Formats: sequence, structure tokens, C-alpha cells
Amino acid sequence: MTVRLLLGRPRPGVVGETRRVVHVFEAPSQNTPPDRLTAFCSASFGPGELELLDRPLGMPCESCLRLTPTPEPQLPLPNGSSET
Ligand SMILES: [Zn+2]
Repeated sequence: MTVRLLLGRPRPGVVGETRRVVHVFEAPSQNTPPDRLTAFCSASFGPGELELLDRPLGMPCESCLRLTPTPEPQLPLPNGSSET
């Protein structure tokens, strides 16, 4: 069983430009998308607030990357776990 992941970032104007990082979402199992998507880092977005991406683009959300179960090493994980 594979967890399908969605990538998305807030649209311009929803948050400040520096906070427009790419969050990771677990794709809903139903065919219909839910009204609201919640990222692994607990950031939650309603319809129209999110720009869905089909591949990682720009700055990833580090919290999401840390919390994402990665069935396949697909996302570019930042190397090195220690931060300054
Ligand atoms: Zn996030």
C-alpha cells in the first residue's frame, strides 16, 4: 500500500512571500478532494489558497519534510540534520 503524497504551496497573497514554502499533504483516498487540506506540519489550507504542484518547486517546508513518511526517496531532503 502506497501513500500518495501531494505537494502544494500557498498562493501569492495568502501568506507572506517568505512563507510560501512547499508543504507535503497526504492525498485523500476518496476521488473527491476535500475542502481543506492539512499538511504534515499542521498547516491547513482551504480551496483557492493552495497551488498544487506536480513536483517539488522552490523552498520546501522543512517541518513537512521531516514528518513525511517517504515510501520512495522522491523529495530532495536537505542534507545534514543539525541546524546552526
Ligand atoms: Zn509544511
